[in-house]
Parts: sequence; structure tokens; C-alpha cells
Amino acid sequence: MQIAIDGPAGAGKSSVAREVARRLKLAYLDTGAMYRAVTLKALQNNVDITDGDALVLLARTSNMDIQVDEQEGNLIYWGGENITRAIRSPDVNKNVSVVAESPELRKELVSLQRKIAKNAVGIVMEGRDIGTNVLPGADYKFFLTAQVNERARRRWKEIKEKDIQSSYSFEELVEEISTRDRIDQGRADSPLLIAPGAYILDTTPYPFQEVVEKVVTVVREAKTAAENKDSSTCDNEVNSDVL
Ligand code: C5P
Repeated sequence: MQIAIDGPAGAGKSSVAREVARRLKLAYLDTGAMYRAVTLKALQNNVDITDGDALVLLARTSNMDIQVDEQEGNLIYWGGENITRAIRSPDVNKNVSVVAESPELRKELVSLQRKIAKNAVGIVMEGRDIGTNVLPGADYKFFLTAQVNERARRRWKEIKEKDIQSSYSFEELVEEISTRDRIDQGRADSPLLIAPGAYILDTTPYPFQEVVEKVVTVVREAKTAAENKDSSTCDNEVNSDVL
């Protein structure tokens, strides 16, 4: 089973995808973490973040490794170094959407993402182009969104609760999220779009657990409906054989 979850920055995709994966016993991949890892290392190594070939070279020589952790979600290692926390820094937030505009880098990371999906029995993958580009044949597609102020409010709460290092004011956070959305929606290569057939969920009024419940229910109901359809098609075939 493949579940694609896309949506703008801060819509709660990561926590929802992680919990849905846990409930349905599927693997989980946060593709944004991969773009973030390349961004962090490009900034640290003074690599031009608009140079696609240089970004690909960086990604290829990185030995990037992604592991699943119940608490933290995906743990990201770069040449053995755990960079899970570092990829959430304000500097990475500010630059990641520019890095993700590179068609060369996208090609490289999308191929890795597809490989991970292929090797998993089932997966919940989240990002911006999963339903439209990475896994267009995914069994279930979701587009999670929320009003920008609500997304910033959630992020603000997380920064305070987890004591995450951040120099943003709330207004700057709104601005950062809006800028990232604008770049992600406007880029030429696989922009953020609602995939055909995706289930759109505006999470603005809902607490996290309700969103998870909704996604799991949609998947279970769709799966049951498909199974019933299969068996009724099968019954019809048997009947016509008999007749
Ligand atoms: O999901 P997250 O906010 O961590 O993603 C960081 C950035 O990575 C996004 O703003 C976007 O520019 C990029 N991204 C992407 N395609 C994906 C996942 C993330 O372009 N599938």
C-alpha cells in the first residue's frame, strides 16, 4: 500500500504521516528532510545553492541515510553524522525552497525516494510532489492544508514547547512560511499541486488526532469499498460463467 500526503509548509503533514504509518504498520518517509539535508550541507560547505550539478554531486557523495524512529520520525544521517535536528534550523528554512527548485537535484532525490518506496512493503510518503510526481500510482492521495496563520501558530507552539532554537517573531514565521509556499507553488519542476483524485483536507479547525483519524478512516473505507467491488465483479464473473 502506498499513501501519498502532500501540502504546504506547516500543514502538519509530518506528524500526521508518521502517526498514520504507525497505525497502519507502514514505513514512513519525510521527503522534505532530504531537501533539507542537502541544503544544510550546501550552506556548511559554501556550495552555490542555485548550482544543480553541484547539489547533485553533494548528495551523491553524502552517503545520506534515513532511518525511522518512533519518537523523532525520520532520523537523517550524513556520512554517519546525525543531522536530524540541524536540518530544522532557520537558515535551512530560509534556503531549502531555492535548493528544491533545482531539476537536477529533484531528479536525484526522486529516484532515491522511489527506490525506498519499492523496497518497502507499504509506505506513507509525504512532501510536495508525491501524488503528482514521485508516486503518481499511489493507492491513496491526500492534500493537507490549513490557513497560513494557523500553520504559523502550530509551528510557533512547537518552537516554544520543544525549545527549538529560533530567532523568528511570529510575524517573521508567517512571512517565512508564505515565502516557501510561493516558491514551492511557482517553480517549474514539480510544483506543489493537488494531485488528481487526492482527498483534500483543510486541517485548520481540527486537532492532530482528528486529522489522523480522518486519514485512517478514508484509507480503510476506500480499501473495503475496493475489496467489495472486486468481490462483486468476481461474483458477476462466476455468475455469467454459470449462466
Ligand atoms: O516538508 P518540509 O517543509 O520539511 O520541506 C522543506 C522544503 O523542501 C519545502 O519547502 C520544499 O521546498 C521542499 N520539498 C520539495 N518536495 C518535496 C518535499 C519537500 O520540494 N517532496
